[in-house]
Amino acid sequence: MPAKNLDEIMSFCKRRGFIFQSGEIYGGLQGVYDYGPLGVELKNNLKAAWWRANIYERDDMVGLDSAILSHQMVFKYSGHEDTFSDNMVDCYDCKKRWRVDHLKDGQCEACGSKNLTEPRPFNMMFKTRIGPVEDNASFAYLRPETAQGIFVNFRNIVDSTFQKLPFGVAQIGKAFRNEITPRNFIFRVREFEQMEIEFFVKPGEDEQWHDAWVETRVAWWQDQGLSKENLKLFVQPEAELAHYAKKTVDILYNFPHGLEELEGIANRTDFDLGSHSKEQGALNIKAKVNPNEHSITKLQILDPKTNENCVPYVIEPSAGVDRGILAILSEAYTEEVLGDGKERIVLKLKPHLAPVKVAVIPLAKNNPDIVAKTKVIRKRIQALGIGRVSYEDTGNIGKSYRRHDEIGTPLCITIDFETIGKDGDPALFNTVTIRERDSMTQKRVHLDDIETTVRGYF
Ligand code: ATP
Repeated sequence: MPAKNLDEIMSFCKRRGFIFQSGEIYGGLQGVYDYGPLGVELKNNLKAAWWRANIYERDDMVGLDSAILSHQMVFKYSGHEDTFSDNMVDCYDCKKRWRVDHLKDGQCEACGSKNLTEPRPFNMMFKTRIGPVEDNASFAYLRPETAQGIFVNFRNIVDSTFQKLPFGVAQIGKAFRNEITPRNFIFRVREFEQMEIEFFVKPGEDEQWHDAWVETRVAWWQDQGLSKENLKLFVQPEAELAHYAKKTVDILYNFPHGLEELEGIANRTDFDLGSHSKEQGALNIKAKVNPNEHSITKLQILDPKTNENCVPYVIEPSAGVDRGILAILSEAYTEEVLGDGKERIVLKLKPHLAPVKVAVIPLAKNNPDIVAKTKVIRKRIQALGIGRVSYEDTGNIGKSYRRHDEIGTPLCITIDFETIGKDGDPALFNTVTIRERDSMTQKRVHLDDIETTVRGYF
């Protein structure tokens, strides 16, 4: 199925409270977005699914939450100070600035001019001042990737948790890149979140672990609802590899604006641990050691087979939360024509990702008995701990269903006169109607079974 139109997804996200332009009332901050009441739920659910799959359902991984503000030396020895840059050009005619590899036929995207400056490297790391003195010595970087927090804590993690190879460290957190041309909604932004794993293995076992992680990660994205047809693998050509990588396989997704990277899975060898401990790693990039900038910590681990210390190799599956959200929304957003000719928008999210799990709806919003019963049922469903339960009293049942179809609520529970024993078949006393989002089928369920029935969907 082709991906949807990006403008449609953007206006949907604003209309229904998923994602807003940051600082919109002041004209907006380019390349920065805020997640609204429904967006934050979707994002938290996606991150929770990733954490569950990688930490709780495995026994070879631990978690970390390292700081965003980063010591300058971390990004010096990681190689980012020297190499984390894109080539940019300026247009002499309209003065706009572009990333050179994003231009078509060497033309300015805004005015079509070919009158451009020579490409110049532009380092994408944000710097920020630390403390009250404004000098060059007192700055920190806002991390451009979460990975380095894992590498520089390697010793602390091994010493405190007694890991043995192979093992991984997982982290979810914000990263910042001063992108020259942020674009395509939340696809390329200046502030974003990453879900990164650094999986440490014995040198020599890296290639098989790399292959295994590519497979695991593709399967995980499918579990989040992305279809096989919209996911492709791309092996980065050697000339395009990042300074730390021996091999990188990208998982591409067929986004509304084209087939682009959703996650990168890199074999970073022993580059980072080697560089931070001033060892010459497998890629033969010797750290430029300045004895005044000492890190004498040995980032090594015992190889139980040889009983000798080694600098492990690392496989890094690095996924973007925001790109994940865009892919999931694009895949789930569906416009349908129903049997009666009416149209509906339905967000076909996997239930575990849905921002609202269940809507409880009183059929008559002014009937005190129905309202009271609805509130009791809401409390019972909330007590299941499955996520957000919404009380919906627009007074128009059809409208309520459509609203919840549009935001992806898997179940609506309607409480009517029969539920409170005031109308219709007495056998229906204490029963409610459960309606499913995708099939729109409805069934009558007794309140004694309501928890079991609802739990069965999540
Ligand atoms: P690209 O080539 O698209 O700039 P990258 O190869 O530089 O991406 P990585 O450094 O591999 O990206 O980062 C890992 C993941 O972080 C990416 O797969 C992506 O999902 C996410 N990511 C990177 N840069 C951005 C950004 N500017 N905005 C949103 N997500 C990003």
